[in-house]
Formats: sequence, structure tokens, C-alpha cells
Amino acid sequence: MYDYLIVGAGLYGAIFAREMTDLGKKVLVIDKRDHIAGNIYTESVEGINVHKYGAHIFHTNDKRVWEYVGRFAEFNRYTNSPVANYNGELYSLPFNMYTFNKMWGVVTPEEAAAKIEEQRAAAGITEPRNLEEQAISLVGTDIYEKLIKGYTMKQWGRPCTELPSFIIKRLPVRLTFDNNYFNALYQGIPMGGYTKMIENMLSGIEVRLSTDFLADREALSASAKRIVFTGPIDAFFDFKYGPLEYRSVRFETEILDKPNFQGNAVVNYTDSETPFTRIIEHKFFEFGTQEKTVISREYSSAWKPGDEPYYPVNDDKNSELYAKYKALADESGVIFGGRLGEYKYYDMDVVVGKALDAVEKYKDQ
Ligand code: UDP
Repeated sequence: MYDYLIVGAGLYGAIFAREMTDLGKKVLVIDKRDHIAGNIYTESVEGINVHKYGAHIFHTNDKRVWEYVGRFAEFNRYTNSPVANYNGELYSLPFNMYTFNKMWGVVTPEEAAAKIEEQRAAAGITEPRNLEEQAISLVGTDIYEKLIKGYTMKQWGRPCTELPSFIIKRLPVRLTFDNNYFNALYQGIPMGGYTKMIENMLSGIEVRLSTDFLADREALSASAKRIVFTGPIDAFFDFKYGPLEYRSVRFETEILDKPNFQGNAVVNYTDSETPFTRIIEHKFFEFGTQEKTVISREYSSAWKPGDEPYYPVNDDKNSELYAKYKALADESGVIFGGRLGEYKYYDMDVVVGKALDAVEKYKDQ
């Protein structure tokens, strides 16, 4: 008999398992995939750690979180600074003085601020009600049209006028020449890949792969006093109130016989015609000097059964539906965690913090 059956060997599950094990609990981790690490899984191809389920860049302001992950991996000095490609015009991201200079020829922060203000005033927005209005009020119409509108439409499959404004608030806007995508004190990529980090977290812990909880839930549930579930919360409850909406991503990965394809780890294609949203060149997350390179084109799509759910769609409709599942979850005695278990657009550092908090909460129960 286990104290905890942990469903999902991703970041949340691995941390919960590590901490409870260290507190003397008996845990079993299962995962339906044939590998650990969930969506942060990296796989070595031509000596390059390929982010198989999408690029992950660790960044946090939380010292506790940074020190915690540092126990399981050494992090490099990677700083994310994606390039936007709008029909061959290249712009620096996030929105900063390099972007404004290229867009308008402005040189000083004052000139940039004035340009943004002029465009915001012309659009007549006072209280932004959706992503489009929020974006225009933050960076003006030109940047909205060239760098936000098409990309966002491709990523979320709907116009910016139908999306919540908080999504765009993830991106900093700066009147400085700082092109670090994140406003975080700590940032980097685990040297040797995320899989290795999760492997270190799970060291000495029983893990069963290719084991689908939902396909054998009675027997598996009977094996433990308590369950931690990090899969989709709606699937756990057999879609009783209907399915929650997710965005999925399809990756087309290619090995190229050249050392350098695009000169940066991330290039976003922000026009609406290019069918993919971005190209990831994996070696540059780790300053790779290999002779070959591996790139992944990312195509965003609506999730349907059988696809991997990646992004929860936290709009009003889905938030209401989630609240109903959450009420069931609270009564169930099962602990739900992670992006899918909590149906939240979480970054990795938040997931680490949540897993550590859950351990604090449940350790004496
Ligand atoms: N975004 C954009 N243009 C870009 C990059 C991002 O308009 O070149 C917007 C888009 O709406 C996206 C949001 O900013 O959904 C958040 O982007 P982020 O890079 O945080 O998304 P993630 O890395 O989580 O996929």
C-alpha cells in the first residue's frame, strides 16, 4: 500500500514525489507516456537537447524556487530574447527600444513613449476590454498590427478582440535596450536537459511508465491512500460537464546539415500568412557548437481528443466550466496539480512553488 499514487511524472508530480519520499512516505509515480518529465521532456538528437513538447525556459523571481531546482540541475546563463520575423522584417522582442527604433526610427525613450501615446490616443482606448485594446494601449497600433495580431490569432485560433487582455500582459514593454524576454531575477536552462533534472528528482523513487491511470483507475486507486492527479481535470471526471477547451501544438522537427539555421533559439513568425507561429533552434538554448542543428516549427491548433493538451484557454466560458470541476475536485479528496490538473496557464516556476506548497499542506495528514 502506497501513501501516494502520483499520476504524471512531470514537474509537479516529480517534486511532490521527491518531497514526500524524503518525508518518509511511500510513493508510486505513474505516467501514461513511455518517458518521464511530462511536457518539459528533452531528448538528445545529434547531441542537442531537443525540447520535444515545446520550448521551456526556466525563469523566476522566487529565490526558494530557484534554489530548489538548483538542487537537481545546474542552470546555464541562457537569457531568452526572441526575434520577431514579420514578412522578413526582423524585430527585437520583447517590446523595447530596439523594437521601437526599428519600427519608427525613434532614438530616445521619450520619442518612443510619445509615439505609443499618439497611437493609443488615436485609437481612443481608455479602458481596454480585450487583448487587442490592451495591446494597442501598451504599444500602439503599428506594433499591434505587425507583431501581435497575426501571432496571437495563430496561437489562439481566434481574433484578439475575443481574447482576455491578461495574455498580452505576460510580455514586458520597456523603454530601455533590455531585450530579456522575462522580468525575472533568475533564468536559465538546466545543463544536460530537463529530463536529467526530473530524473534526479525521481532518483530512488518507483516509477511506472506507459501506465494510463484513467484506463485502470480502480485497481490503481486501490493501491494508495491518496491520489495526486496532474492530468486534465475534465478527463479525471469523465468530462461530466463537457470538455474544457485547450490549445494544442504540433511540432515539425528537422535535423539540418548545417551548424546555424537562424542564429537564435526562438524566432516568432508574427504575420498571419505563415502557418507556423515560431521556429525553435534547440542548440542555442545551450550555446551548442555541434556541426548539425535541429529545428522545430510550431503549429498551433484547436485541441481534439487524441491530441496533447498544452494551453488551457482561460476565458470566461472555460473558467466557469473549470469552477464546476474544481468543486468536484475539492470534494474528491484527490490532489490536483500542474497546468492540466489546475487548468491554469502556469509557468514552470509557479508549478514548482505550488508543488512545494502542496507538500507543506498535506505532509502531516
Ligand atoms: N505574443 C505576440 N507576439 C509575439 C509573442 C507573443 O503577440 O511575438 C503574445 C501572444 O498573444 C501570446 C502572448 O503574447 O499568446 C504570450 O506569449 P508567450 O511568449 O508568453 O507565450 P508562451 O511562451 O507561453 O507560448
